Amino acid sequence: MTSAAFLFSDKLANFDYGDDHPFKPIRARNTKEQCTRYGLLYGPGLIRPEPDPVEPSTLESFHRQNYLKALKEVSSGRFDLPMLERGLGTEECPALPGVFEFSLLSTGATMLGVELVMGGQVGRAFNLVGGFHHAYPDHAEGFCYLNDAGVALAAQAAQGRRVAFIDIDAHHCNGIQHAFYEDDRVLVISLHESGKTLYPWSGFETELGTGRGTGFNVNIPMLENSDDEVYLSAFRQLVPPLIEAFAPDLVIAEIGADTMISDPLTHLRLTNNGYFKLVKEICAFSPHLVALGGGGYDVFRTTRCWTLAWAAMSEQEPEDTYAGAVGGMMFGGEMGGLWDPQIRTAGPAKERAMAQVERLVSFHHEHSFPVLGARKA
Ligand SMILES: [Zn+2]
Repeated sequence: MTSAAFLFSDKLANFDYGDDHPFKPIRARNTKEQCTRYGLLYGPGLIRPEPDPVEPSTLESFHRQNYLKALKEVSSGRFDLPMLERGLGTEECPALPGVFEFSLLSTGATMLGVELVMGGQVGRAFNLVGGFHHAYPDHAEGFCYLNDAGVALAAQAAQGRRVAFIDIDAHHCNGIQHAFYEDDRVLVISLHESGKTLYPWSGFETELGTGRGTGFNVNIPMLENSDDEVYLSAFRQLVPPLIEAFAPDLVIAEIGADTMISDPLTHLRLTNNGYFKLVKEICAFSPHLVALGGGGYDVFRTTRCWTLAWAAMSEQEPEDTYAGAVGGMMFGGEMGGLWDPQIRTAGPAKERAMAQVERLVSFHHEHSFPVLGARKA
């Protein structure tokens, strides 16, 4: 077991985007309950601090003032048509009462995670309701209103720290990429389903950054039907060497679980076996780690992924403390344990997915590796 912070608030978990909206903050509560059931929440070195809302002025390192003003108005129930130009009041980012306060608290939780790991109180922190990587400085999109990760990255970079952002959510982190595209203080690495088949339709390998930031934006777009093996192959060949060469002080990771085979919004075929390995490897090479929940639209599978992620971060083995306690087999069996069966893609789809990985590896060996001085794995 290591020291780690589980960042959770009822106010975050209870926030409701609406019945028809796929984004369900309640996943955080389900994860807390599942972590409790598996004996993962209490132990030496494990803390569960209650986050506070971030000071609104802190947001200005990332967001534009006029957007913040509009978001605040929407949040208090005022809405007018020009707000649509800021992405507010759309189907994906509805004009929700209280959304500004919700986003301040979510960003506060991410900032608290950074403070705890950089202050040496814990080695790793997990903000379950965080990782809103699609929010832009001047507009909302993709279920994201305030970019908690972007605010934290900007604040750390301003303090002279080297920060790496690793994103394994199925969607490309377009808001983060946009904000740090010219920046060589922040290394952004994103593995995601290709923009040819998935929102936000960006994140191609040729988007390498610009000016001083050239080479510091690394996209690894995976094809539909990519499975655990494909993802791990790309990750292992590219991510550890780049991180080793960049030598960050802090890693912020967006560990969305929408890569799962059952996710209703995406077209990948990962299981939580592969997901767990990805998170474990991120833990292994990160000197300090703040992980953010991100996406995941199969609530049941996302909950299990995040429980396993917390087990990896806190270096614990999940043990079912309820099995046998209530009706024995029936209860334990009904819940089905934590692990997915191994599922592999086969045939031409697998060959295409693997060929894409080999192509991306050669591309980044040629374009990103020399800039960072990374050595091939
Ligand atoms: Zn996503």
